[in-house]
Amino acid sequence: MKLLLVEDEERMAQALCEILRIENYEVEHFSDGISGLAAIESNTYDIVILDVMLPGMNGYDVIRNARQQGIKTPVLMLTAKSEIDDKVEGLDSGADDYLTKPFLTKELLARLRALCRRSFDITDGTVSFGDIILDTSTMLLSCSTNGQSVRLSEKEYKIIEYLIVNKGQILTREQLALKIWGFENDSEYNNVEVYMSFTRKKLLFIGAKTEIKSVRGVGYELRCENV
Ligand code: CA
Repeated sequence: MKLLLVEDEERMAQALCEILRIENYEVEHFSDGISGLAAIESNTYDIVILDVMLPGMNGYDVIRNARQQGIKTPVLMLTAKSEIDDKVEGLDSGADDYLTKPFLTKELLARLRALCRRSFDITDGTVSFGDIILDTSTMLLSCSTNGQSVRLSEKEYKIIEYLIVNKGQILTREQLALKIWGFENDSEYNNVEVYMSFTRKKLLFIGAKTEIKSVRGVGYELRCENV
């Protein structure tokens, strides 16, 4: 589960990153609205935690911009304000949930779990597409028609999970690289194709009809025909 935190108060941001990493979330952090929006536009996050009062562009405008571009990533807004009007503006601008500072860690974690369930459409700890089922806790990939299964490596798991969550969309190599390796690891950028081939072998191994299709010059998409 990969989170984007857009928060300009450094101490608050550091504390949140620490807590979220302890809870096994992957977190990337930006401190202003403009780079936050650019990160959201990469469409490589499962959930966005977005502060309202930000330098560059405020949180309401960030989310309005993202929604206008058709980006559906769930957004939890954070604000120091507690006025009802602010809450309404947040939800109107396209936020999925709202948390007023100061908040309890356990409340933040509960809201995130709720948004995760919504974003992943998780049923019994699994996500599925076509004839494949992915267990999100054991990283076991199974074929629903023959019962065959195989354990995925961490990166293979992230690739399949990302493709399932974005089913019906073509994901670019850049998006996959960002999603799997994050912003800091440019050196691994070219490994997308390598891991894609590992992941395809796992799909073949379990006899799945679901395939990762390459769309020339664009990217990759999960497809399943004839199940
Ligand atoms: Ca702020």
